[in-house]
Amino acid sequence: MALGEFELIRTFFERSAGPRRALLGIGDDCALIRPGTGQSIAISTDMLVEGRHFFADVDPAALGHKALAVNLSDLAAMGARPLGFTLAMALPQVDERWLTAFSSGLFALADAHDCELIGGDTTRGPLNLCITVFGEVPPDAALRRDGARAGDDLWVSGTLGAPAWAVACRLQTEAFPMAGVDNPDAGSSADSNAGAPATPPHAALAAARLRLERPQPRVALGLALRSVASAAIDLSDGLVGDLGHVLTRSAAAGGAPLGAHIDWPSVPVDTALDHLYDSQRIALALAGGDDYELLFCAPAPARPVLAMLSRSLGLTLTRIGTVTGESGVQLLDAHGDRIDFHAAAFDHFR
Ligand code: ADP
Ligand code: MG
Repeated sequence: MALGEFELIRTFFERSAGPRRALLGIGDDCALIRPGTGQSIAISTDMLVEGRHFFADVDPAALGHKALAVNLSDLAAMGARPLGFTLAMALPQVDERWLTAFSSGLFALADAHDCELIGGDTTRGPLNLCITVFGEVPPDAALRRDGARAGDDLWVSGTLGAPAWAVACRLQTEAFPMAGVDNPDAGSSADSNAGAPATPPHAALAAARLRLERPQPRVALGLALRSVASAAIDLSDGLVGDLGHVLTRSAAAGGAPLGAHIDWPSVPVDTALDHLYDSQRIALALAGGDDYELLFCAPAPARPVLAMLSRSLGLTLTRIGTVTGESGVQLLDAHGDRIDFHAAAFDHFR
């Protein structure tokens, strides 16, 4: 390595101001943090692997953002306030431009959430990033997955489906390079390249890519939901699969079966997907993944509070259905009739 391991850490990851909230930050054998009185520490880890979670040519600043964002999203889903994080990384080589961009994206998001880098590990190897975040939440206020009850409303923040569509377009372009999703002049019809899939509208794709590469962890929402939601989860593997986790855990905790009705017309599908068929929109919004929005349950009396919260946060909160006392998730159309759909959640080993 051109730059030694410790110079690399000092140059790109140790900030001159030193730790702000941690008692001890980067440079010792361990970092020391102290949660506030009455708080428990919320801990979560997420790993990003090249080719699995991101494309090799991704903008390194966006990668720095996303590596932390997916972790902050877990804190948000727990109703925890961010404190700090560690960064373990394997790098194929020391590329100073790459590291500069990566750390700028990482620290921009870290600063926005007052979450400081307190340690990590750095080694040579195939690009791999692993972040562990630490947050604080009073133990009784944590938004667990197991608190949903029959009759609760089902809510989701933001919009769904755009990130999964951006991934699908990218994979399709690799399979059909002539379809040229990077060509801004290309129309949205496939006429000019017979045999290849239609070229998606450029503005919609740019918006979807932004959602994929720069997810905004819903930390403020998570904090506000502490006294409101009965259960919450962040959407990383697709709505139906992640909802399944909430229902399974809540049913076990409550000792009675649980299921859900999802009202398809009310699902906030991202407008970037407007030009797609309904079947595609259903698949992307319900099973796509990578949304990093919050899915949560709340009793009906919380509706006015949630409407107010949506306005004060400037974030759409949509009631998309109901938790029921019968196992299984049903998708209903505007008439309340069942829509058949197949929505397998993303699973790395399938
Ligand atoms: P140890 O040998 O005790 O594991 P290291 O030599 O790996 O310690 O790391 C030295 C210090 O630098 C430690 O405080 C560690 O937390 C920190 N560190 C290492 N890599 C990173 C990184 N990528 N980002 C932030 N801190 C790091
Ligand atoms: Mg080490």
